[in-house]
Amino acid sequence: MSGSVVPLAVPELGGNERAYVDECLASGYVSSVGPFVERFEREFAASVGAAHAVACVNGTAALHVALRLAGASADGYVALSTFTFIASANAVAYTSARPWLVDSERTTWNLDAEALHDEVVRRAKAGEPLPQAVEVVHVLGHPAQMEPLLALRDSYGIPVVEDAAEALGARWTEGPLAGRSVGTAGLFGCFSFNGNKIITTGGGGMIVTNDAELAQHARHLTTQAKTSRRGYLHDEIGYNYRLTNIAAALGVAQLEQLPRFLGRKRQIAAVYDAELTHLPVTLPPSVSWAESSSWLYSILLPESVDLEGLLNRLEGAGIQARPLWPPLHRQQPYLCAEVLGGAVADDIYARGLSLPCSVGITADEQQRVIEELRRALR
Ligand SMILES: *Cc1c(COP(=O)(O)O)cnc(C)c1O
Repeated sequence: MSGSVVPLAVPELGGNERAYVDECLASGYVSSVGPFVERFEREFAASVGAAHAVACVNGTAALHVALRLAGASADGYVALSTFTFIASANAVAYTSARPWLVDSERTTWNLDAEALHDEVVRRAKAGEPLPQAVEVVHVLGHPAQMEPLLALRDSYGIPVVEDAAEALGARWTEGPLAGRSVGTAGLFGCFSFNGNKIITTGGGGMIVTNDAELAQHARHLTTQAKTSRRGYLHDEIGYNYRLTNIAAALGVAQLEQLPRFLGRKRQIAAVYDAELTHLPVTLPPSVSWAESSSWLYSILLPESVDLEGLLNRLEGAGIQARPLWPPLHRQQPYLCAEVLGGAVADDIYARGLSLPCSVGITADEQQRVIEELRRALR
């Protein structure tokens, strides 16, 4: 057995990354003005099937701007999944809106859209304040069920912002959204290009929308809301959130490889599914109506398994595995946030385990992971 470590998820940088970054250096365009930023936006928008894309310094910044433009403010609250990476909630908090944490459903581990729908309808009938927006996270790359959320939008004008940070390439395959990529069903879709995401720019993010005016406004906010070409005039409080040309150059090169990356991610997931199906574990969500990006392969262990002990054992065997996220209602900054349910998210966290699934993982490395799990769970 090799003594090398099998990493959880590391980037693959074997394409035109170096050539394009060299081009930036040779041209002197290293900052936020430069041809790769617009090219990355154009090619990204085409890739997901959105009319417009706005490149940002990271996914959290993309969410912050999108939520602000969707109407999140100190006057109200935003509904989102309690089972997600903390950045989803931080972006809400940056707008000064209060996060309303919604439990997961069992089928996809995503926000329980039906429970949310029914509670919002109840609040509307009772004359209570309604959420300013719904931020739906496509958790671990699996598309969320959208119909109840789009129904809320149609009935009450509550906009939907998609946190698609983990879900580049995922899509719906049945129903009214069939054929559409995640990120294009809401008013805005936001993506992340952090080092462990489907594609990476080192750090980066993207907002997509089909609304030309909103795209223009988003771009304006990411560039300090500057109004004049020459002078220093600004018409509102903006941010220094625009992606740099160097990062965008990486993004263009990574995007060229997206089909291969997605193919590998899904292949790796299929191998795990086939090999782990005989173990007493719950495999990752899979439904007939959507196709996941298979971003981070994660299973649920039986309750009897000591997760901490298993993580130690895997680490000892040179395998980088990770627990899932503690739900936001268990996290220090959000202990006082309002919660709708929470027991399902608690259970997913208590039993969840993410396994190595880098695009570049070898068949031998994957077999090592599978063998070690088999031995541990026997
Ligand atoms: C990674 C991630 C983000 C934040 O993206 P950054 O680029 O790291 O700022 C937001 N939401 C979810 C669900 C994520 O996984």
